[in-house]
Amino acid sequence: MFAEIKRKITVFNTLILIIFMCMFIFLLAFLVKWSLNLSGEMYLTDVAKEIINAEGGSVTESVESMDSVHEKFGYQYILWNSSNTVKNMKLEDRNLITKGYEILLENTDFPRFNTFMTDNLEYRGYTIKYSNNAGDYTLQVFQQVSTERSIVAYVISFLLLIGAGSVAVLIPISYFLAGKSLQPIKETFEDQKKFIANASHELRTPLTVIQTNIEVLKLKEDDTICNNTKWLDNIASESETMAQLISELLLLAQAENHSLEMDVDNFDLSAMCHQLVDLMETLAHDKMISLIDSVEDEIYFKGDEQRLKQSVRILLDNAIKYTKEEGRVELCLTQGKRHVIIAVKDTGIGLTEEEKAKVFSRFYRVDDARNRASGGVGLGLNIADFIVKSHGGKIKIESTPNVGSTFSIVLPRSNIKPESKKNGHKNEVVPTDDFTIE
Ligand code: ADP
Repeated sequence: MFAEIKRKITVFNTLILIIFMCMFIFLLAFLVKWSLNLSGEMYLTDVAKEIINAEGGSVTESVESMDSVHEKFGYQYILWNSSNTVKNMKLEDRNLITKGYEILLENTDFPRFNTFMTDNLEYRGYTIKYSNNAGDYTLQVFQQVSTERSIVAYVISFLLLIGAGSVAVLIPISYFLAGKSLQPIKETFEDQKKFIANASHELRTPLTVIQTNIEVLKLKEDDTICNNTKWLDNIASESETMAQLISELLLLAQAENHSLEMDVDNFDLSAMCHQLVDLMETLAHDKMISLIDSVEDEIYFKGDEQRLKQSVRILLDNAIKYTKEEGRVELCLTQGKRHVIIAVKDTGIGLTEEEKAKVFSRFYRVDDARNRASGGVGLGLNIADFIVKSHGGKIKIESTPNVGSTFSIVLPRSNIKPESKKNGHKNEVVPTDDFTIE
């Protein structure tokens, strides 16, 4: 599919290039022709003026004296008197007498310019009528323009040749650049494909479990519900997994479309962290893990409380999940000059450098089978990372395999004016760092 798009882009680019090149060449040729024509006409007018001026004296002498000036341009002329007979002339090409006579008889308005061919030679002519004391005259000045025309033709063919050469060189370049510009789209497309495949796979697993459990229940049609709670519990638990996965997928989709709404307000971050420790206590207790609350009080933050709570919860949940029984998990909240740091420390299985680089990727699980059993689908850290980034922060990981990990959410600090808090007013937040929520 991408090869076809790449080919189409190259063809399209090449066509556009050819069209522009042709337009440019013909415009240039037109301008060259137009300016040569104009200067040629100006030259003929000048020569005619000088000849007419010279007519006041001795025509032959005056014109001969001008020859030195115009000789190099190769003008020729015929001076006709009122009875259409030649009074004077300077001609190299005798055919011009016949052509000049024809123009004279055309009886059109003069002065006028015309271009004509005689004997395979192209001429530009200028015909003007004038009168002096001696009578009425018609002057025709001619200039051969075949060389001029061949220069224009030469310029056009030269430009066309350069154009064709450039197109030949630019086709492979355009093909290469089309490939380069398609690369990020290709990667996103591959990512989407992988994402859909992973999401369907993750949804299929609980669905299969639910279907199997329903089949079992169908076989026990006459049995009481009480005797089959095990199967119903399985169905309930898998439905919950599916519901959570769907809501996570929805959140990621909204994040990708930039349509995730953030409910930004000033809130007590310390209180939120204390509350989370209380909430996770039972989970930790079940694994005999000591959950330590090292949260500094009176730390406030401007952001979406529920989303940040979700991020910290993901980190705490992972810390408990990936720490063996009788281990230790600690939630710390501190405030520096510029940052607020929420750190989740554990004495768990830890991560290698390679794993650390991958944990934020969607559906990534270090130990696929074991982590699936613990309920994780590999979306948690991706979601947490997105939320934290939306608050202008980042998640840092320090970890040593089999020793433990520290996941730190580093957020830009917001300053609260304590007096407004004491007065019972809404906290006024002055961000110290540049901080925007996308
Ligand atoms: P999951 O839902 O599988 O936990 P996450 O995105 O939250 O997905 O985490 C991705 C993977 O990172 C996990 O499967 C696990 O292998 C690893 N991981 C996350 N937190 C920790 C931790 N505190 N200690 C060790 N490994 C962790």
